[in-house]
Amino acid sequence: MTSYETVPTPPIDWGVEPVDLEVRLDATRVEVPPELLNELKGRGVEVLTSVDERAEASRDWWPLAQIWALDGLAPAIADAVVRPTSTAEVVAVIVACAEHGVPVTAAGGRSGVLGSSVPVHGGIVLDLTALSGILTVDADSMVVEVAAGTFGDALEDDLAERGLTVGHWPQSISLSTVGGWLACRGAGQLSNRYGKVEDLVIGLEVVLADGRVITTGGHARAAAGPDLTQVFVGSEGTLGIITRAWLRLHHQPNARTTLAFGFESFGAANDACRRIMQTGATPAALRVYDATEAAPRFDTGDAHVLLVLDVGDAHLVEADMAVVAEECSAAEQLDPELVEHWWEDRNDVAGLAAITKKGFVFDTMEVTISWSNLDACYRAVLAAVGAMDGVRVVSAHQSHAYSDGACLYFTFASRPENASEREAWYVAAWNVAARAALDAGASLSHHHGVGLNRARFMAEALGPAFEVMVALKEALDPQGILNPGKMGLPDRYGEVAWP
Ligand SMILES: Cc1cc2nc3c(=O)[nH]c(=O)nc-3n(C[C@H](O)[C@H](O)[C@H](O)COP(=O)(O)OP(=O)(O)OC[C@H]3O[C@@H](n4cnc5c(N)ncnc54)[C@H](O)[C@@H]3O)c2cc1C
Repeated sequence: MTSYETVPTPPIDWGVEPVDLEVRLDATRVEVPPELLNELKGRGVEVLTSVDERAEASRDWWPLAQIWALDGLAPAIADAVVRPTSTAEVVAVIVACAEHGVPVTAAGGRSGVLGSSVPVHGGIVLDLTALSGILTVDADSMVVEVAAGTFGDALEDDLAERGLTVGHWPQSISLSTVGGWLACRGAGQLSNRYGKVEDLVIGLEVVLADGRVITTGGHARAAAGPDLTQVFVGSEGTLGIITRAWLRLHHQPNARTTLAFGFESFGAANDACRRIMQTGATPAALRVYDATEAAPRFDTGDAHVLLVLDVGDAHLVEADMAVVAEECSAAEQLDPELVEHWWEDRNDVAGLAAITKKGFVFDTMEVTISWSNLDACYRAVLAAVGAMDGVRVVSAHQSHAYSDGACLYFTFASRPENASEREAWYVAAWNVAARAALDAGASLSHHHGVGLNRARFMAEALGPAFEVMVALKEALDPQGILNPGKMGLPDRYGEVAWP
């Protein structure tokens, strides 16, 4: 097994000493009995209890929590952070927590943007980043077995040396882990070619809430009942702890091509993407920026900009690009350098904290929508958020395309004059945007997941099918110790009074 240095998400500036932090979320707090921690320490499991470590491990990249941090507020603070180095140690932690009724919140890179890994009731944060490294590579079947806490950049660097790639390139690749991708049903920026993480995974090792260890899947395709791997993909730490995964591999690409086009409308650019995808072509990235987003980024005036990047086998890339050129023949051809501009800057997230400090309230909302409803959904969300008092910007790009629909990725921002209005604007913007998107037929999320921020929309978004999720939760975690308070699921420790 290869193991790497773990790369934690950069520490947040709380503005106060961690010891002076207050907790913002109003929820029952569960203290961890000292004997539980002593038992884990006795088994050699790393246990961190300093307030600095606990506060840092108890937050993610949820933009509202970044706003709270300006006022010296942490969303919640765990009693202890536990860092297992093996599946056996994960089992020891889960069994001990089950015995004492202590909530346990799994955390990978903590790059989630919805408060998913915030331990709302305190208890234990289960930091999985010490479960790191490639375990095996089956070069014939092109499958890698990887520990769940492995960060994305470390995984891809290691695979590149072997001429291989998983092909999952989220913007947060250096901040996020394999387990986090799976737990949130994440998407990489080249997912048109390689697929979302649910397409890449063929099997999982999972520690259940009572400490049993199961292995799911393992075959290319199987017909032995429902796909149990997919029960845990997207479960955000509420149904089990993912400790290892088997992912599909690809050869490193031997060709790379870029194209860029300008369209008169967002709808026309997306219609070109629809036609391209429906031929069966799979150019790795087809991204459409509306004029509001494109102009400051690419200096392209009123144009709605389609960026095309393909990577892969040279024959396939050539064929894909021939399809793209034909379907975009009526559009204005732009400088393909625009694609390089996007590619080079795409993982630069250094400015995000600074924007919050300047008093801006902003967030992004990504949803999946069928092609037939895409333009109406785009217009509805823009109109709804655009009508809010104080809105500074509302815009969108289409970031992932399929034969049946696409991901619309909205951005909205305000800069309330009074700091005390920031949270209210944030909550109202999400209410308005999610309502407009759901009414237009969109899914609740495309790749960020649900967490805490979207929990209030979950039952409505899934309709009667939500009862199936509740039944799964009750069957797999009857004590409700796994990441309570998330995804709108029943919470045995009591409701989190937010928002
Ligand atoms: C700047 C930025 C850019 C981003 N870009 C993208 C993008 O391009 N594509 C994308 O999909 N997402 C993106 N995200 C969101 C985030 O990176 C993803 O949701 C990512 O998958 C989270 O992984 P993580 O390891 O950080 O998980 P965490 O944030 O630590 O956890 C997320 C959830 O998964 C659960 N979890 C984590 N590990 C496990 C495990 N081993 N077993 C069970 N549950 C677990 C946690 O309990 C929590 O509910 C971005 C985030 C940021 C801050």
